[in-house]
Amino acid sequence: MLGLMQDWPLLVHKVLDHAATYAGDKEIVTRGIEGPIRRTNWQAVHERSRRLAKALARRGIKSGDRLATLAWNTERHLESWYGITGAGGVYHTLNPRLFPEQLIYIANHAEDRMIFVDLTFVPILEKLQAELKTVETYVILTDAAHMPQTGLRNAIAYEELLKEADDDFAWVTLDENAACGLCYTSGTTGNPKGVLYSHRSNVLHAMAVLGADVLALSNADTVLPIVPMFHANAWSLSFSAPMTGTKMVMPGAKLDGESVYNLLEDEQVTMSAAVPTVWLMLLQHMEANNLKLSTLKRVAIGGSACPPSMIEKFERNYGVEVMHAWGMTELSPVGTIGSLLARDRLRPYDEQLKIKSKQGRPIFGVEMKILDDNGKELPRDGKAFGHLVVRGPAISKGYFKGEGGNVLDHEGFFDTGDVATLDADGYMQITDRAKDVIKSGGEWISSIDIENIAVGHPAVAIAAVIGIAHPKWDERPLLIVQLKPGAEATREDLLKFLEGKIAKWWMPDDVAFVDAIPVGPTGKIQKLSLRDVFKSHVLPGAAGGAGKAAE
Ligand code: AMP
Repeated sequence: MLGLMQDWPLLVHKVLDHAATYAGDKEIVTRGIEGPIRRTNWQAVHERSRRLAKALARRGIKSGDRLATLAWNTERHLESWYGITGAGGVYHTLNPRLFPEQLIYIANHAEDRMIFVDLTFVPILEKLQAELKTVETYVILTDAAHMPQTGLRNAIAYEELLKEADDDFAWVTLDENAACGLCYTSGTTGNPKGVLYSHRSNVLHAMAVLGADVLALSNADTVLPIVPMFHANAWSLSFSAPMTGTKMVMPGAKLDGESVYNLLEDEQVTMSAAVPTVWLMLLQHMEANNLKLSTLKRVAIGGSACPPSMIEKFERNYGVEVMHAWGMTELSPVGTIGSLLARDRLRPYDEQLKIKSKQGRPIFGVEMKILDDNGKELPRDGKAFGHLVVRGPAISKGYFKGEGGNVLDHEGFFDTGDVATLDADGYMQITDRAKDVIKSGGEWISSIDIENIAVGHPAVAIAAVIGIAHPKWDERPLLIVQLKPGAEATREDLLKFLEGKIAKWWMPDDVAFVDAIPVGPTGKIQKLSLRDVFKSHVLPGAAGGAGKAAE
């Protein structure tokens, strides 16, 4: 017997209808790429998105067509997403931090018909356009006055495109399972693979992310999404904020500590989300200038492990609650978030900090378990660690055009490629990417645990731990450190700092100092290139063991 509820497809443009109707005057503030701050609201974004959708339909865009964006977080980027999907198309985010060859591969693989591009990235596309076979039109996200001289094919200023239509347009009606957004994984090995969100998955995920134990966004909040729309769906904020009519502040191209701080204060931001490297810049700016935060209440930190020292600094020094989150592009992207169970909130702060340093508990719609190498489920005891697998309505069941083949196991679980522990209360802790785990004497050493502690040393800006081949133990850890500007520390200082904080056999065999630890296009430490740089490193007492570092 079927239920008797209405058939109301979950489509993302319905979210925008809701925002425009019930929070129409709530602002979206953008630091424009041209310079000045721009202000608009949900009602205007709604109107302009419909104009765009109509203009695109007139230009022959059909359901399922992929239209790419190569853009910072701005209100125009937001309108592009809604206009594209409202015309039945699929927004496809290109990450400007990728190598040119990767951008070419991705745009051709996606068969993008148009690219919406910020002024900043026009020169990149000018170099690539000969290779971009399917792109018919380049839309420069600016107005006629700021339109650059460009040789891009059929280039048109975004504001001119909007003039091609009025807003008398009914969104294209689609099945809720229709494709909505496309985002390629960064692909540290092999070609990037396309994660294809549906309208339904985006709406369901946004609803889950809104929850009080997740990002807890409300109409009273002002959110600053620093996490880019071009990476992992901007943690769903482009859909969850309008669901509740939250004010949004879009940072544009300026993500340095001072610019972020000024936006936080000037726009009275209450909630924000970013990867640890961005927060590091903000914290350094505030410390150097003795600044405080007057309105910020909560920050979500994820994308790579958030060190406990960062959580403590935000919470103790600035009164800002940290929600440590884990996710991935394939999960839409939020998988777990570190909001504490009621009973854990009563614990002394040091105990809370230990729990908050884990990656948190699964949000609704994410089933998870850990498996050993033979696919057998491991206990949820907070100690056993194994391959983290997940299942849910906003989790990939395959990649675009079937790349990578079948990605689900016989029960429909997706292997995240992460290694983790789960405890009895559901808190999950990532120990490593499976390919970064250090195998020493048959046991596993967590590189993240050591890095988290090392960055607590006052002289350390970024730390990375990799496995180096060892004649007796297979691999032993090498700690690689980038010091803060002007700071000093020796190998012995750092080893002493780790002493007593980690098991003896986890102690790095050596410490190396570098000017800059390479960080990839999505804010993650690039261990592959570090392993390459240090492939001939000889650990003390391991002569003859140098050679190929583990992959
Ligand atoms: P991406 O799809 O680019 O967002 O990358 C997803 C990967 O980032 C995950 O599989 C993890 O390896 C890593 N990651 C994301 N959040 C965290 C976190 N809080 N702690 C540790 N690793 C994380």
